[in-house]
Amino acid sequence: MTAVLELDAVHKVYPGTPPVASVAGITLTVHSGELVSVVGPSGSGKTTLLNLAAGLDRPSSGSVRIAGQAIEGLSDRQVSGLRAHRLGVVFQQFFLLEHLTALDNVATGLLYRGVPAAERRRAAGAALERVGLRHRAGHRARQLSGGERQRVAIARALVGRPAVVLADEPTGNLDSATGAGILALLRELNAAGTTIVVITHDPGVAAATHRRIELRDGVVVHDTGGGS
Ligand code: ADP
Ligand code: MG
Repeated sequence: MTAVLELDAVHKVYPGTPPVASVAGITLTVHSGELVSVVGPSGSGKTTLLNLAAGLDRPSSGSVRIAGQAIEGLSDRQVSGLRAHRLGVVFQQFFLLEHLTALDNVATGLLYRGVPAAERRRAAGAALERVGLRHRAGHRARQLSGGERQRVAIARALVGRPAVVLADEPTGNLDSATGAGILALLRELNAAGTTIVVITHDPGVAAATHRRIELRDGVVVHDTGGGS
């Protein structure tokens, strides 16, 4: 199996008095095809871990590889390029552009790849289809419900066919029925081949994944699967 994310002895210390070791020595590998949940109490380092794994933040020490490429020797610009080609990220707050249509929001997922506009729109339509929202393609983001907005955000993460999708509490702002729909979608996407790491507070989400990684105080206290 191909390793899509590799963290080796990763630490992240935020300066302050005293400094906060938000991630305090994490080693883990995610392989192609996995559906992994990351759980743990608030403040245990889940979001920090996601930001490090996505190359949105740099570790204080240790190494991060995304799709086999170590990021430490890369410039910020090169890391952005790697992220644009290899990763999809979904945030709890969706971060959609309110005035743009669902289709155009999804197409922005390909902006940094130099894909021509017509091809971006074609791929965005296909990604909306995969999340069950083709019929909302022309609606502006602000006209969509919470569950629809999260589906658009997931389609945007998928549109470039990334090696792995990282999602930070994707059901955290949704009611439980809508959240269950998003969970079903993530499982379906994984069954169709997408590698997914989902951070969650929701025990239902964690129970539905093949591998569960539990964090406490910035370290992994339990990992049901994987290994490296
Ligand atoms: P979780 O997502 O599990 O709730 P976080 O990764 O957001 O946890 O935070 C882990 C710890 O790191 C917390 O104590 C938090 O206050 C601290 N922290 C996170 N980001 C920063 C930051 N930018 N500056 C200082 N401390 C931070
Ligand atoms: Mg968090």
